Amino acid sequence: MALRFWNFDHALKQRTGSAHMSFDYDLFVIGAGSGGVRSTRMASQAGAKVAIAEESRFGGTCVIRGCIPKKLFVYASHFTDDFEDAAGYGWTVGATQFDWPTLIANKDKEIDRLEGL
Ligand SMILES: Cc1cc2nc3c(=O)[nH]c(=O)nc-3n(C[C@H](O)[C@H](O)[C@H](O)COP(=O)(O)OP(=O)(O)OC[C@H]3O[C@@H](n4cnc5c(N)ncnc54)[C@H](O)[C@@H]3O)c2cc1C
Repeated sequence: MALRFWNFDHALKQRTGSAHMSFDYDLFVIGAGSGGVRSTRMASQAGAKVAIAEESRFGGTCVIRGCIPKKLFVYASHFTDDFEDAAGYGWTVGATQFDWPTLIANKDKEIDRLEGL
């Protein structure tokens, strides 16, 4: 498949008579998910003037409802097996109890913390 590159300068010159146009930002990113946040940070560190627009929460799918909550839930789900296995390794584990609202509250707290980074 042949790749076709669009010549921005040429197109701009044809429309406006000049290849130069001034913008408020060097990079404007829509969506503060993993990709948006990373690209904005990198461009900013390289000296670009950047802005980012997010319709929901900073962090996107991975932080807010994907990777991070999934991992916390998976870690939480392992404890039943771990308590059982511990007995085989000589541990005496007392009565255990699981509290779903505590897990959800702590998960939300961690996501709030990550969103603020
Ligand atoms: C349940 C689940 C578990 C996952 N686990 C992992 C994992 O363990 N490891 C891993 O590597 N990947 C995982 N992923 C995949 C990972 O979440 C995505 O690859 C990653 O989030 C993609 O990043 P992104 O920046 O492209 O998009 P997103 O993170 O989806 O960000 C897009 C952002 O754009 C915003 N947006 C969309 N439209 C507009 C608009 N018009 N105006 C303003 N804002 C807008 C959205 O609100 C969102 O915040 C998981 C995904 C899911 C759903």
